[in-house]
Amino acid sequence: MASVDEHLAMVLDLVGNTPVERIPLADCLGLAIAEDLSSPVDLPPFDNSAMDGYAVRARDIRDAPVELPVTDDIPAGKTVLTELAAGTAQRIMTGAPVPPGADAVVQVELTDGGTESVLVNGEVEPGAHIRRAGEDVRVGDVVLRAGAELGPPQLGLAAAVGAGELPVRRRPRVLVLSTGSELVAPGNPLLPGQIYESNGVMLAAAIRSVGALAEVLSFVPDDVETFHSVLAARLESADLIVTSGGVSAGAYEVVKDAFTGNGVEFRKVAMQPGMPQGAGEYRGVPVVTLPGNPVSAQVSFEVFLRPALRSAMGHAVIQRPTRTAVIDEALHSPPGRRQFRRGRYDPSAGTVRLVGGPGSHLLSALAVANCLIIVPEGVSEVAAGDAVTVVALDA
Ligand code: AMP
Ligand code: MG
Repeated sequence: MASVDEHLAMVLDLVGNTPVERIPLADCLGLAIAEDLSSPVDLPPFDNSAMDGYAVRARDIRDAPVELPVTDDIPAGKTVLTELAAGTAQRIMTGAPVPPGADAVVQVELTDGGTESVLVNGEVEPGAHIRRAGEDVRVGDVVLRAGAELGPPQLGLAAAVGAGELPVRRRPRVLVLSTGSELVAPGNPLLPGQIYESNGVMLAAAIRSVGALAEVLSFVPDDVETFHSVLAARLESADLIVTSGGVSAGAYEVVKDAFTGNGVEFRKVAMQPGMPQGAGEYRGVPVVTLPGNPVSAQVSFEVFLRPALRSAMGHAVIQRPTRTAVIDEALHSPPGRRQFRRGRYDPSAGTVRLVGGPGSHLLSALAVANCLIIVPEGVSEVAAGDAVTVVALDA
């Protein structure tokens, strides 16, 4: 039996990296920047006013109240400035450049707001209300490190330093193929012995949620010929094939039958759920085969594919953060296996509650869970009140 970490290492290695391309900022949300971004500008780019008010020399208003002639008006965006002469003021708006000769801005609230001349009722220190050039970022500073995830603030920063496009790794194109002669597309009537196909939509959504592209191929019956022909038509455009079902120990295991001897290795992984796993390369395309039970498939996605897809897209952080929580009831885990139980984690209380049993068909419990509880290989009994490791699925 392979360990979870061994299988993860194999899947990470197999999936590799997609190539770097430059795309518009607006399309980058959630992706990782592929190279360090250094700023070609200072931020702020020039000394500017933090207030609406008047640019002055601080010493000219030391004996406030004092009346000064207003010699210019500086709205934000003004590019041509006049030097501030001693004993004068220039009206200035927030974000507008501070004129040469001025060393402070006195806020409008301390004045009568005049436009020809202004009555200043209070003094300010030299440097008051001026945002200095380079205070935030200096030319040449690395503002985003390769591998950083591009959320709203990171995109804002990239735009602020003038980047219109960013280097990112191309979104992997993933083919999702469900297998099983018992499967029926939702929306159609069921005969006895049939079930609705649910892994396809679930895995595709999981793949998209990490920023990769998913194409769900129509699911196939447990027939090797059909399996090969459905895949053949789409192989060329795929970076990764993900199958579900057909890998356990029974007969009619279509994925196993089709891929064995064709570059894919099937093995047992010391985990619950999700023991039967497979990975390899089929006609040059990486393949990861997931077990068919819906909870096994989704947990396997979390454990192997989510990190692999994040790694493929160049994220520095590929794993979700783990936390410690106190569990409300005892549980049993098979010895030697890493167990992933579904739970409701309450971050403010630091507690976690089990939802549903260990069965890998219990999809409704997965749907109300917000975390996986991880019971390590060396632990088979957990008591109520013990501290356990949880991975928040919504973090
Ligand atoms: P298998 O690995 O093909 O033996 O499947 C294990 C269990 O998962 C069986 O009960 C299947 O009916 C179920 N299953 C497999 N694939 C799917 C799917 N795409 N949607 C829902 N259930 C599935
Ligand atoms: Mg099956």
